[in-house]
Amino acid sequence: MTIRNARHPFYEFCDEALEDIRKQGRYRTFTPLARQADRYPVYEEELPSVPEGREVVVWSSNDYLGMGVETEVCEAAIRAVREHGAGAGGTRNIAGTSPLHKALEAELASLHGKEAGLLFVSGYVSNQASLQTILTSMPGWICFSDRQNHASMIAGIKGARGSATVIYEHNDLADLEAKLAAAPADAPKLIAFESVYSMDGDISDIAGTCALARKYGAMTYIDEVHAVGLYGQEGGGVTQRDGVADQVDIIEGTLAKGFGVHGGYITASAQVVDYLRSAASGFIFTTSLPPSVVAAALASVKLVRAQNWRRAKMFERVDTFREKLRAAGVPFTLTPSHIVPVPVGDADRCKTISRRLLNDYGLYATPINYPTVAHGTERLRLTPGPFHTDDMMDEMVNALRVLLAEVPIPASGQAVIDK
Ligand code: PMP
Repeated sequence: MTIRNARHPFYEFCDEALEDIRKQGRYRTFTPLARQADRYPVYEEELPSVPEGREVVVWSSNDYLGMGVETEVCEAAIRAVREHGAGAGGTRNIAGTSPLHKALEAELASLHGKEAGLLFVSGYVSNQASLQTILTSMPGWICFSDRQNHASMIAGIKGARGSATVIYEHNDLADLEAKLAAAPADAPKLIAFESVYSMDGDISDIAGTCALARKYGAMTYIDEVHAVGLYGQEGGGVTQRDGVADQVDIIEGTLAKGFGVHGGYITASAQVVDYLRSAASGFIFTTSLPPSVVAAALASVKLVRAQNWRRAKMFERVDTFREKLRAAGVPFTLTPSHIVPVPVGDADRCKTISRRLLNDYGLYATPINYPTVAHGTERLRLTPGPFHTDDMMDEMVNALRVLLAEVPIPASGQAVIDK
């Protein structure tokens, strides 16, 4: 129990800030859901009134291919715990590098066709640490950052004191070019962007961005977090699908979404990786990933690379789900990716529909509200995967049809139905 120092102003600040967050409807509550490894995407919701738990079908998981419950992946983790123990025992530099870490880095480098790979404790840290370290390495860096880049990239870019940031409009190459052209020709430049943007489900023009990078002498850094495992003939992301991996200087990814496990990484030229290994604080001064996680991730990457049917199955399920939504007249945004946003257009309506999906139908879909997306574009973000059956889809489509008709847009609402 913390002895509360009532005189310190921070306690009062927390009370007031939390009250504000509540008033704005942004207070976060977590739904405790236990994943059932043998029944994915079925989870069990912990409820005081139902001691044995209640079945819930999850529609918002980022374990897009279900690799986190794949037997071979789980067995690799179990074997590694038996052989090597539960934790890594140190930072990478202090007895925390195992042959598994080296093998996974080599596997990721090969997946992306790069000379070297470097593991971080999460995708967030890989972005934050890499960008901050690069942008503080030489004087005069200018980072050109897509307006919708993820918080982890923004953290790294903002944390790079002494560098300049130019934000360009989302996926707008004309705006990027105008801004590159206006910058001093001799300044070191970096373009930081993503391939699949997870909230809107749109995909950037990587070849076009790289062509501008060449024209203006900029380096390129791409976040493929929502694409690795899913796109390209081996799951090497949109850079692989588009045949442009060699044009991008640094490819960043996660092991926690398409690969279903945990951890983040970058792949790049040997000297860039060697430099970040020696200079990135977020890489150096933290305990490395446990052997079980690394072994599971390695097993997952190998399977995902070799088994194209997993990607094909996921996209078939996405297409089937869209057809069912269309047939039932449920509005959704048709994206060029695997992400299916259902526009709801108001934060309260979005929360009500999400709550009723869970309470009335046992279906879990997270409401996506401001500040994650702009006011008026609130939505449910659905990610159908290989394990969503036709019956599960029919239930979700029916529940959405009923709830979207029953729960009105409040008079104050500002719905933008972005079909
Ligand atoms: N980049 C993007 C675009 C993301 O959406 C996320 C996580 N949601 C991350 C990076 C961070 O990855 P991780 O969850 O592995 O920390």
